[in-house]
Amino acid sequence: MTELTNLKVAEIRDGFRAGDFSAREVAEAFNANVAAAKALNAFIVETPDHALAAADAADAARAKGDTPAPLAGVPIGMKDLFCTQGVQTTAASHMLEGFTPTYESTVSGKLWQAGAGMLGKLNLDQFAMGSSNETSYFGNVISPWKRNDGGNASLAPGGSSGGSASAISARLCPAATGTDTGGSIRQPAAFVGISGIKPTYGRCSRWGIVAFASSLDQAGPMARDVRDNAILLETMAGFDPKDSTSLDLAVPQWEAGLSSNLKGKKVGIPKEYRVDGMPADIDALWEKGIAFLKDAGAEIVEVSLPHTKYALPTYYIIAPAEASSNLARYDGVRYGQRDLPEGAGLQDMYAATRAAGFGPEVKRRIMIGTYVLSAGFYDAYYTQAQKVRTLISRDFERAFEQCDVLLTPTAPSAAFALGEKQADPLAMYLNDVFTVPASLAGLPAMSVPAGLDAQGLPLGLQIIGKALDEQGVLNAALAIEERAGFAARPDKWW
Ligand code: GLN
Repeated sequence: MTELTNLKVAEIRDGFRAGDFSAREVAEAFNANVAAAKALNAFIVETPDHALAAADAADAARAKGDTPAPLAGVPIGMKDLFCTQGVQTTAASHMLEGFTPTYESTVSGKLWQAGAGMLGKLNLDQFAMGSSNETSYFGNVISPWKRNDGGNASLAPGGSSGGSASAISARLCPAATGTDTGGSIRQPAAFVGISGIKPTYGRCSRWGIVAFASSLDQAGPMARDVRDNAILLETMAGFDPKDSTSLDLAVPQWEAGLSSNLKGKKVGIPKEYRVDGMPADIDALWEKGIAFLKDAGAEIVEVSLPHTKYALPTYYIIAPAEASSNLARYDGVRYGQRDLPEGAGLQDMYAATRAAGFGPEVKRRIMIGTYVLSAGFYDAYYTQAQKVRTLISRDFERAFEQCDVLLTPTAPSAAFALGEKQADPLAMYLNDVFTVPASLAGLPAMSVPAGLDAQGLPLGLQIIGKALDEQGVLNAALAIEERAGFAARPDKWW
């Protein structure tokens, strides 16, 4: 039999239903990999018993002949930004160390209801702020990939969903949840050779997910292929009255709708994404992607998104502004950490708690956010950024008059070494250049692995779709996946 931990979600689901193995065997196999791969630091908390309990319930239901739940027998990883009842939820911050929610996030609750089990809570950048997973209070995650040039540098798995990316790529879980505010599903997926989709803003409930920037935050799945993403997204999406921005729409059957035949479809290539200094490998991959989509029957058109160059500065005003407001709740009174110096008053407690609880990147964002929202600078920065955000959305609306989906690289580089960009926040922010525009416009976007660079590291292509057209995004990604035949996986060294 194939190694159970090498199976994808659809294979586990179907094999379990066919009686090829028990859910317990699957959960035990993944639990063993999680325990053996501590060197990757992908998990903040391991929950083997949660996975086993869900597996035993699935096995018992199968023995009784019950109709199987959609994800019966499938264990997954949960980004530690989702509140999980009775299981510590930290957002990778000292501020929330020891915080054990009394409730379950809507998205994680839907997954458990569908029969999935939890292998553990996955590491991430602190409060999901970062592109390398180096801002975590619990230490950086390590990518299971190494460059093939003999250098032994540890590589970043991307961020903020770096734990999810590293764990899936190393076969510690077949799939995981991610969240994406400016690229945190897509960029880490690209760095480790897996796929992940950020759905349209409002598709997945934000209720119970630790908030970063509420007008941008979206949950989504990360998995090894497009089908698995479709399967998970069907469970995760759906209207939730507890989230006022949740879309009251039926969830499409994305898995059943998968088709890689793109006849009659138009794929737009935004010319502004051809940035200076892009590595030749990434340019070549983009050309390959164009050829793949043509081969699948699509027509290629060049389109223009003229305000693209403003997307990054706009994002790095709006996201910190919202973060500074969302993170005001961590005051030592309600959640997690409290630092109460001898004889201190209330203000001193706030200051001491926040000084000790937040990491440097979080403090940087709070300071930028409060600055751009301050009375003297609000109009110059925040109002202006909101106007530019509208222009960016309009760019996409116009482009989608000429095409059905857009094709771009996911990130301007392959995975970089740990420490390489840590001292230079701007260099780190630049890594989000291709992912933030779709976030600002609330559009569905997906990264799919499409090849390796000269150093043997995975590279991803991004498909951006019209609002609510996750199907179009998944189908174009599938057309690339089938043709790229990406099968590389990291050597086991951990
Ligand atoms: N890397 C981006 C940031 O640091 C995006 C993070 C995210 O999507 N959560 O803000």
